[in-house]
Amino acid sequence: METMPERLDAVRARIARAAERSRRDPASILLLAVTKIFPASVILEAYDMGLRDFGENYVQEFEDKAPAVRGLAGARFHLIGHLQSNKSKKAAELFDAIQTVDAPKLARRLNESGRALDVMLEVKLSTEDAKSGAPPEELPDLIAAVRACSNLHLLGLMTMPPWTDDPEAARPYFRRLRELGERHGLTQLSMGMSHDIEAAIEEGSTCVRVGTALFGKRKKA
Ligand SMILES: *Cc1c(COP(=O)(O)O)cnc(C)c1O
Repeated sequence: METMPERLDAVRARIARAAERSRRDPASILLLAVTKIFPASVILEAYDMGLRDFGENYVQEFEDKAPAVRGLAGARFHLIGHLQSNKSKKAAELFDAIQTVDAPKLARRLNESGRALDVMLEVKLSTEDAKSGAPPEELPDLIAAVRACSNLHLLGLMTMPPWTDDPEAARPYFRRLRELGERHGLTQLSMGMSHDIEAAIEEGSTCVRVGTALFGKRKKA
């Protein structure tokens, strides 16, 4: 069994090698530690190893963990799971960044909370029904809606390709997200997970969302 520090070293080395191959500064790529399903103690352990950005998928689940981790200086919590507008108020209280904004109405609801939030727009690039996110053709309206919200700071785009264990199958989706970012003048791209960090970084990711490679296999929710 590998220890968490060993896994973290291995992930950082993968990020560094992929950055080097694509002539990018590894410091321009955020390692977002995805702690869904894991208890608050795992966040504390990861924080002690120097990780500061944490991704969670479920508002309710993070609400339960938040009291244990809220006081960690410099820690930032990102919502990376689908957000329903009826949970937006709670989400705005709990998170620092919402990576899954996919509709103007949701943006306005988050804005109403009055808290300053970093925001990414989740883009749906596949035709799979189950996937959330805004279709690319809705981006201009969505971007305008977010920019009209004074409490929201728009960073960039996020996507989740259809699941595959073949990183090369995900690469066209990463490339597409980068093209959309360029077209709309958005510089940050949240893309890439444990098994496809390299392809995502080569295609321009500025935020890889890594769970399994850092913490091991999750039990089912
Ligand atoms: C769970 C999850 C991840 C992390 O996936 P791993 O394969 O465990 O690294 C990344 N992004 C999102 C949106 C997720 O739900």
